Amino acid sequence: MSKNFETTAIRDQLTRTENMEHSVPLYLTSGFVFEDAEEMRASFAEEKQRDLYSRYSNPNTNEFVSKICKLEGAEDGFAFATGMAAVYSTFAALLDAGDHIVSCRSVFGATHGLFTKYFPKWNIETSYFKIDAVTEVEKLIQPNTKFIYAESPTNPGVDVLDLELLSRIAKKHNILLIIDNCFATPYLQNPIKFGADLVIHSATKLIDGQGRVLGGVTVGKKELIREIYLFSRLTGPAMSPFNAWVLSKSLETLAVRADRQCENALKLAEFLEGHPKVNLVKYPFLKSHPQYEIAKKQMRAGGTIVAFEVKGGTDAGRKFFDSIKMCSLSANLGDSRTIVTHPTSTTHAKLGTGDKLAVGITDGMVRCSVGLEHIDDIIADIDQALM
Ligand SMILES: *Cc1c(COP(=O)(O)O)cnc(C)c1O
Repeated sequence: MSKNFETTAIRDQLTRTENMEHSVPLYLTSGFVFEDAEEMRASFAEEKQRDLYSRYSNPNTNEFVSKICKLEGAEDGFAFATGMAAVYSTFAALLDAGDHIVSCRSVFGATHGLFTKYFPKWNIETSYFKIDAVTEVEKLIQPNTKFIYAESPTNPGVDVLDLELLSRIAKKHNILLIIDNCFATPYLQNPIKFGADLVIHSATKLIDGQGRVLGGVTVGKKELIREIYLFSRLTGPAMSPFNAWVLSKSLETLAVRADRQCENALKLAEFLEGHPKVNLVKYPFLKSHPQYEIAKKQMRAGGTIVAFEVKGGTDAGRKFFDSIKMCSLSANLGDSRTIVTHPTSTTHAKLGTGDKLAVGITDGMVRCSVGLEHIDDIIADIDQALM
């Protein structure tokens, strides 16, 4: 019987050792030993599935990957040191020189950097579609297109893409659909259910949830994960056992944290919507959000990120950040502490003005990652900074 999300996140753990521990131990070991020559040979020949060396696999990373696979409805997966290691290794394992990518224009800054700075070295070009023009995607597909890539909700604009529609287009053209599901987490949205072939997470964000460790994971179809695994065995981007141990325990509380953080985020978004110093508020579960209906269809709640625009441009933006008393000025997100970020001068500073405006990043835009403090205190801090 398949269990509910919360139960799987807590109870899907490694088998107890003879010590009968209740909490899974940390396996700080780089290698594993063999009973005899035959077992050693068979293990390296992969006739026998077992841990050999922690660059390939480790009990703690296995447990973390197994949980994410079950929570995302995926066949298999591999865990990485960071979210970007997951993004890069997934691309590098699957792409050949001369391939083409169709991507949403609004993607994480570092991912955009791979597309523009490094992939052209291997003659891999990327074409972009706008968030409000998913119907244009088909026109961008070429004979050498390998996959469609997108994030939903997007960073920092919290726009929402119709995953089912993207998957229909990908299937029609016999290409893959790869979704960076970081902003939603496996709790709020499962892209595989809507037809995605691979799902990528930066576990650094809401999966850890307390701003402690870095991590990444790619899950999806077995044969694709096999390619990603073989590439990663050689290139070495594996997640450390310690981080896997932390993240696996973080998953036990993901549902309760996400529930409260989404509730806080919706309350903050509703408060800001009527605020005289605010131009625009974007939150997937606000009725005014352009893709509200799609968000409702594919997400359990609206997520923990609220984007809004302070009236008065750059100067008003700076004054807002300088007036914040409690919330953290930081570039991270998904933390139990509420964080306010100025995308135009930080995470997305490398984008040109045209690119920024194309993805909705204005000078006065604030990205707020809503935390677990009492909502009244969060609202009070943001309200006084807007005055
Ligand atoms: C943070 C982030 C990444 C990169 O993750 P790291 O763990 O920082 O390497 C990738 N995609 C999205 C959407 C992110 O927010």
